[in-house]
Amino acid sequence: MSASVLLIYTGGTIGMLADPRTGAMRPMDLAHLEEQVPELERVGVRLGATAFEQPIDSSDMRPADWVRIARIIGDRYHEFDGFVVLHGSDTMAYTASALSFLLEGLTKPVILTGSQLPIGTIRTDAKENLITAIEVAAAMDEQGRAMVPEVAVYFEYRLMRGNRTVKVHAERFEAFRSPNWPALAEAGVHLRYDRSAILPNRSGPLKVHERVDARVGVIRLFPGITAEWVRHALGTPGLSAVLLTTFGSGNGPTDPDFIGALRSARERGIHLLNVTQCVGGRVDQGRYVTSRAFVDLGVIPCADMTVEAALAKTMFLLAADPPAGAFAQRMAAPIAGELTLG
Ligand code: ASP
Repeated sequence: MSASVLLIYTGGTIGMLADPRTGAMRPMDLAHLEEQVPELERVGVRLGATAFEQPIDSSDMRPADWVRIARIIGDRYHEFDGFVVLHGSDTMAYTASALSFLLEGLTKPVILTGSQLPIGTIRTDAKENLITAIEVAAAMDEQGRAMVPEVAVYFEYRLMRGNRTVKVHAERFEAFRSPNWPALAEAGVHLRYDRSAILPNRSGPLKVHERVDARVGVIRLFPGITAEWVRHALGTPGLSAVLLTTFGSGNGPTDPDFIGALRSARERGIHLLNVTQCVGGRVDQGRYVTSRAFVDLGVIPCADMTVEAALAKTMFLLAADPPAGAFAQRMAAPIAGELTLG
C-alpha cells in the first residue's frame, strides 16, 4: 500500500500569480497549484490536500497561524503518514521552529517547503522542491517507521532540521542554511539521508500545543545603540520577554546607561535572552567583559539557537506561564533538537 501525505497550502511564492493590473505577486488557490504540477499523479504517494481559506504571504504569518497549522496536522494526524506544508520562504524558519515545539511527541514527518519562483514560471524551483518534499514525507525506514520523524525544511536539494534553519538569500534558489546542524538529507541522483543527524524515533502520542505568548520582542544591538532607544522598546506595555541579538559570542556595549535600561526591565520582570546575530556559532556569556553584565542581570544565554528558534521557543514556553527559574532552565534544555549542549 502506498504511503499517504497531506499537502497543507498556506500561501507563499510557490503558489503565487502576478496581478494582471499591478504585476505584484499574490497567492492563488490550491486548485491552480495542483493543475500546475501534473507530475503529482505519478509520485506514487496517495495525496490529500487542504489550504488556508485565504492563502497568505508568509510575511503576514502570525503566531496564531502557527497554531492553525499545528491544529490541521493534529486533526488529520491518523489519516496520513506525513505532511508537507507549502509556505512562503520569508518566515518559513520561524514557522518550522514553532511547529517543532507545538507538535510534542511527533513521530511523522512534517516537511515545509516553498520556492523562490512561482510554480507556473518556466525556470521554477517549485516543482523539484514540492516533489522531493513529498518523497521525504512518505519515506519509511526498514521497519516501516518514518525516515524523518521531525519538522524539517526542504529547499534546493537539501533537507534541514526546521528549527536550525535560517533564510540567508533573498534571490538564490539555495535560500536556506542550517549553520549549526548538518543537513538531514541531500538530494542528488539519490536521496541520501544522514541518519546520525535525524532525531531518533520518539514514541507518541502526539500532543498539539495550542497556546503561544506573543508578547515578545527582539532588539538587535548595533554600534551606537542608545539607552534611550532600548528603554523605549523595553517600555512597551505588556512585554513578557525580549531577545537581544548580540555581537559575536554574545557581547554588547558596556555603557552604564545601556546596562541600566536592561536592569530596569529585569526589575519589572521582563525576561531578557541573549542570541548571537552571527549566522553560526554560539553564545558564551561571560567570556568577554562585554557580556559580563548580561550574566549579572540574569540574561538567559541561548547557546547556538537561531533567532527564529529562540523566538518561537520563548513564545511557546511562556504560554505555560512558568516561574522565572523554570523558564531559564527550559530555554537551556533542548526540546526538539534546536540547540547543542555546550
Ligand atoms: N514573500 C514570499 C513569502 O514568504 C516569498 C516566498 O514565498 O519565498 O510568502
